[in-house]
Amino acid sequence: MSMTLCKSVLITGSSRGLGLQLLKEMAKSSNRPSTIIATARNPAGSTALQKLSKTYPGVHIVTLDVDNQKSIRIAQEEVRSIVGEKGLNCLINNAAIGQSMDINTITPEAMMKHFQVNTVSPLFVTKAFLSLLQTAAAQSTGMGIQRAVIINISSIRGSITCNWDEGANFKSYAYRTSKAALNMVTRCLAADLGSDGILCMALHPGWVRTDMGGPDADLSEEESVSGMLTVLSQLTDKDHGVFKDYRGNNLPW
Ligand code: NDP
Repeated sequence: MSMTLCKSVLITGSSRGLGLQLLKEMAKSSNRPSTIIATARNPAGSTALQKLSKTYPGVHIVTLDVDNQKSIRIAQEEVRSIVGEKGLNCLINNAAIGQSMDINTITPEAMMKHFQVNTVSPLFVTKAFLSLLQTAAAQSTGMGIQRAVIINISSIRGSITCNWDEGANFKSYAYRTSKAALNMVTRCLAADLGSDGILCMALHPGWVRTDMGGPDADLSEEESVSGMLTVLSQLTDKDHGVFKDYRGNNLPW
């Protein structure tokens, strides 16, 4: 899979799961971004991440705890020096937490923690890297991965419309509401940043066999990531401010 004409990408939460798989597929693709910034809150704890960065050129590991403002500030400086005056083409807000908690087990603390990591953090990570995305956007025209994009990895579990049917048995007040709120963050960013030429969208990876998705999920990491990379490589202005799944289908908010 190739990511046509994208020079640089940053992924949050690339220690394992979909973040790591996105990194792996991009790093080995023929028309890959020359600069791949793999961020993780504890890079030393992921042997797979360390191995990948040694196997492929142009993979930079940057420490980033998305739930820590100081960590975000330090990472921003580091990334600025990596990408230089070319700026950053693609930011993928992937890091998240997800626990299933029903009406009996949900707590205020779990609600706040999910909101913090899954909603507030992607917004403030985006704010931190915005000037780098604007720098890249200013050097190109049109809309898409070759210019500047913000991809918020969301979930169909956050779709208010689909709550009745799609996975209605999945009970998680905290996760579902945090992703619904992330969807609104995505729309607000799209409304604000379209005039800068920065495409913003929410992307559902499917139900995937990761630590979060569990062993019974529909898709392998490879299937999900292959679909998501196809979607990313084909983005146009029609995809600005939309919610799509890994097959490229539009989803209702
Ligand atoms: P995993 O639980 O497998 O991985 C989560 C990743 O997020 C890990 O790399 C973890 O890092 C990182 N992370 C969590 N908190 C932080 C933090 N504070 N700072 C930095 N990194 C953090 O999840 P998936 O790979 O399955 O999920 C990836 C994305 O896809 C998420 O946004 C999720 O909501 C979404 N999604 C997943 C689905 C699925 O079926 N798997 C379905 C729909 C959406 P660490 O190793 O340090 O804990």
